[in-house]
Amino acid sequence: PHPVLRGPVPLSHLLLQRFIQSGSRVIDATCGNGKDTLLLAELVGETGHVWAFDIQQEALDRTAQRLAEQNLQQRVSLLHAGHERLLELVKPPLHGVVFNLGWLPGAAREIATGTATTLTALEASLQLLAPAGLVLVTCYPGHAGGDQEAAAVQKWAMSLSSRSYFVWRMGQLNVTPDAPFCLLIQDGRSSDVR
Ligand code: SAM
Repeated sequence: PHPVLRGPVPLSHLLLQRFIQSGSRVIDATCGNGKDTLLLAELVGETGHVWAFDIQQEALDRTAQRLAEQNLQQRVSLLHAGHERLLELVKPPLHGVVFNLGWLPGAAREIATGTATTLTALEASLQLLAPAGLVLVTCYPGHAGGDQEAAAVQKWAMSLSSRSYFVWRMGQLNVTPDAPFCLLIQDGRSSDVR
């Protein structure tokens, strides 16, 4: 069946399926219900690894459950920590880092990602990327608090040098202007020599 491209998340999954391969090392910076973590665990195969962050035990439990159902838990390190601690907890090189901002569906909305910690984690992600590695960020400007965070993330992404990074914005057009969108940042620092 063809993928249904309703909003940015399925689009981000298509890109992950193309870029993340057996043996890849990736981070899910906001594991939440674990849907992105599960896809990443499938893609990295037996020889790759996923580091999945969340600050809520509830999210890690839901993710662990989803992984166990597919017997993929050994491919994932579940980290009960904020993604702003990424540099301390994961070593380079990384082939992908995925952020799905906002709150955990079905849990307290107060516990959402925040502009300052998100920007710290995004900067840290760039430091860990392998050549041609990707950072994918799904932003939710329509959520309370998400508008300011989405604007800050977009401003940060736009400020990255086009010599070093290839930065893309992907959003469905025939929806309200505050609909979620996805940013993609590819490390292009060694693209001249590849
Ligand atoms: N990717 C998830 C999925 O597929 O179900 C959805 C993620 S949800 C939109 C955002 C998650 O980010 C929440 O579970 C929340 O607890 C978590 N979060 C908030 N601040 C965080 C931080 N500083 N570090 C890591 N996770 C954080």
